[in-house]
Amino acid sequence: MRSYSLIAPAKINLYLEIIGDASGGLRQRPDGYHELAMILQSIRLADQIDVRSISTDNIRVHCNHPQVPTDKTNLAYRAAELMVRQFPEAFAKYGGVEINVNKQIPVAAGLAGGSTNAAAVLVGIDLLWKLGLTQSELEELGGTLGSDVPFCVAGGTAIATGRGEQLSPLPSLDKIYIVLGKYRSLEVSTPWAYKTYREQFGNSYIRDTDNLAARANAVHSGAIVKAIVDKDAREIAQKLHNDLERVVLPAYPQVLQMREVFANQEGVLGTMMSGSGPTVFALFESQQQAEEVKLQVRKAILDEDLELFVTRTITHGIKVVSSV
Ligand code: ATP
Repeated sequence: MRSYSLIAPAKINLYLEIIGDASGGLRQRPDGYHELAMILQSIRLADQIDVRSISTDNIRVHCNHPQVPTDKTNLAYRAAELMVRQFPEAFAKYGGVEINVNKQIPVAAGLAGGSTNAAAVLVGIDLLWKLGLTQSELEELGGTLGSDVPFCVAGGTAIATGRGEQLSPLPSLDKIYIVLGKYRSLEVSTPWAYKTYREQFGNSYIRDTDNLAARANAVHSGAIVKAIVDKDAREIAQKLHNDLERVVLPAYPQVLQMREVFANQEGVLGTMMSGSGPTVFALFESQQQAEEVKLQVRKAILDEDLELFVTRTITHGIKVVSSV
């Protein structure tokens, strides 16, 4: 029976703007999502996903992380289920799928951990079943599972609009160093973050489709995109933005405090919360500076619950590392 091992990288948001809703006066899009303009960036911190064909006709998921479910609510499971539904003949031919998730990405952290696992399963099953799907076909399938899944397939650096599934690749940003901070026991629910934002700031949403399209297009010529094209890490760091900080930071004082500690360290180019949090990241020009700041933050916040990672930007999404 054939098997594949895949690397499934996490992402950070260099930019996240909630620009409105496209539903003509309703408070959300008809599908319940908000209209976003984001810049997503793959990072080296990754899970490893192993997929293999099994002789029984079912889907099995194993995971080394106690908080991650292994039933039908796991996004990796749902990705396999989707492939079974879409390609019943291949399923009949090759049988069931066993998925092993070696989780290194913090869970419910704003780092797209579940989404990147789902993307890896789509890529892995495409290979197992010799389907020959194109990247855009994989992204389209991914979009039915979650907004961040399409980006996770190809990864790198991209503008994401709509609910995050409409992607425009940007020149890739290699080797900007990053420190990530995440309190192990602190999880932020993504639906809670958006709901709270809507309740507090929904009055400022753009509700007209033409203006919404214009705003989404404007992101393409925005200052941070120019900085990315110029590969100017300092300028990118100055232009980081995340609307969800407005609701998550006041509700989670430890996260706010961690962000302030990061911002006050020497060598930090810029700092921001990723996605719906609670992970905070800081950008650096060198790995040495990042390692140094990790040590300083560890000394400044004497809390064993705080996990700190040094990582960096990478130029790829799901990558096959071995096949047997
Ligand atoms: P995003 O940045 O896309 O909003 P996230 O990083 O905030 O995602 P995840 O790590 O994907 O959040 O986890 C969100 C929830 O999804 C968790 O509470 C977890 O129980 C559940 N979950 C389901 N499948 C997975 C998976 N494969 N990996 C991690 N969490 C999963």
